[in-house]
Amino acid sequence: MDRDIKINLPEKVSFIIDRLMENGFEAFAVGGCVRDTILGRCPNDWDITTSAKPADIKKIFSRTIDTGIEHGTVTVMLEHQGFEVTTYRIDGEYEDNRHPKEVRFTPDLKEDLKRRDFTINAMAYNDERGIVDEFGGIEDLENGIIKCVGVAEERFNEDALRILRAVRFGAQMDFQIEEATAAAIKKLSGNLVHISHERIQAELEKLIMSSHPESMRTAYELGITKWIIPEFDNMMETPQNSKYHRYNVGEHTIKVMENVEPNHYLRWAALLHDVGKPIKHTIGNDGYSHFYGHGEAGEKISEEILKNLKFDNKTVKIVSRLVKFHDYDIKPNEKSVRKAVVKVGNDIFPYLLKLRRADLSGKSRYSIELTTPVFDKVEEIYEFVVKRGDCMSRSEMAVNGRDLIEWGLKPGEQVGEGLDYLFESILKNPELNTKEQLKELLKKSFT
Ligand code: ATP
Ligand code: MG
Repeated sequence: MDRDIKINLPEKVSFIIDRLMENGFEAFAVGGCVRDTILGRCPNDWDITTSAKPADIKKIFSRTIDTGIEHGTVTVMLEHQGFEVTTYRIDGEYEDNRHPKEVRFTPDLKEDLKRRDFTINAMAYNDERGIVDEFGGIEDLENGIIKCVGVAEERFNEDALRILRAVRFGAQMDFQIEEATAAAIKKLSGNLVHISHERIQAELEKLIMSSHPESMRTAYELGITKWIIPEFDNMMETPQNSKYHRYNVGEHTIKVMENVEPNHYLRWAALLHDVGKPIKHTIGNDGYSHFYGHGEAGEKISEEILKNLKFDNKTVKIVSRLVKFHDYDIKPNEKSVRKAVVKVGNDIFPYLLKLRRADLSGKSRYSIELTTPVFDKVEEIYEFVVKRGDCMSRSEMAVNGRDLIEWGLKPGEQVGEGLDYLFESILKNPELNTKEQLKELLKKSFT
């Protein structure tokens, strides 16, 4: 079925399609870009599908890169922008639940659309034909449905990454997964073990950063998380019987994710902040749940999870530090705030404040009423001490090791102790952070 919807193709995309057509080939914008423009969203990238073979594409355009030539993909460079142009193809039999053994080129657009994952991703467009929608993609877009092209079980058996893509698209667009598609996911989610951790990371990142991070619940219910982040299942199954909480650990976690802005570090920290709770759960004499030491336990587990998902070191370090300190007791006074900044790290302290707010918003009314005034005060004090320029890291001290040596301390241990002592003193009283006063102080205590 062709539909009479006009899409404003970017100039360069039209240029590529026109050149291909002038040379006697068919060419269309295809997949995500068609879906996103119909939805009124800005596409990440514009992919082009064509009946031209890679060799033809390379003849027509002067600057091309062989991106995945064996799969029919050539990148056409226009000025500094690259566009993936892929020959219509049929994927052969799949091996290892992910990669087709071979691909065959085909002259038939419909065959090419058939190999795509979901109906909403299987539409093509050019100005001449309009929208080519062979599998009911527009209807599913209108109804907010993620549905496999063809038989869901077969499609997930071919490529298990599609299982995760289904939930990710659901999260990004707030769509429901169609019944047969969901049933196939439930049945086959175990195939996710064959998918590389880098690909899982990329999909999870998109899900978590979307406006519907609560889709983690869907991923849990469909049996997906068990294979890619089983610690989440443990959280979903850990109760919190206490006056401070109204949700179990997993549901609380989801609330916290919903209540932090879509920042990479914050969303991962929100997901993992209580990951230490399942193993630290005890029930006290009072009958209530306790989770002593869950921050530190969570730090280690987060590190493992993020490394396993092949995250960069910066992410591993920042997120696990936020997890470690998410519950750190900060008293509403200047000294306690400065100490906390030093302990947590100046660089991520503003994140920590946001995480703590979101954490609180997912607790009981009792917690919220008890703690909100304290958080308000702590934040006010933090802003104040930053503005005043209080020293909150060693690099901001008015003296360094060389000064201490000049004043007669022995290099090494003694200088270290001297600096520790002075830094502690400055945290208690930031006004001391001048060379003269620190020298005086040192004289009194180290002679
Ligand atoms: P995004 O917004 O993340 O770019 P997208 O739908 O464009 O979403 P891409 O990974 O860029 O996703 O893929 C482009 C198109 O290629 C998809 O729209 C779909 O038609 C097809 N496709 C991508 N991955 C798969 C897959 N694993 N199985 C089947 N078709 C796929
Ligand atoms: Mg895309």
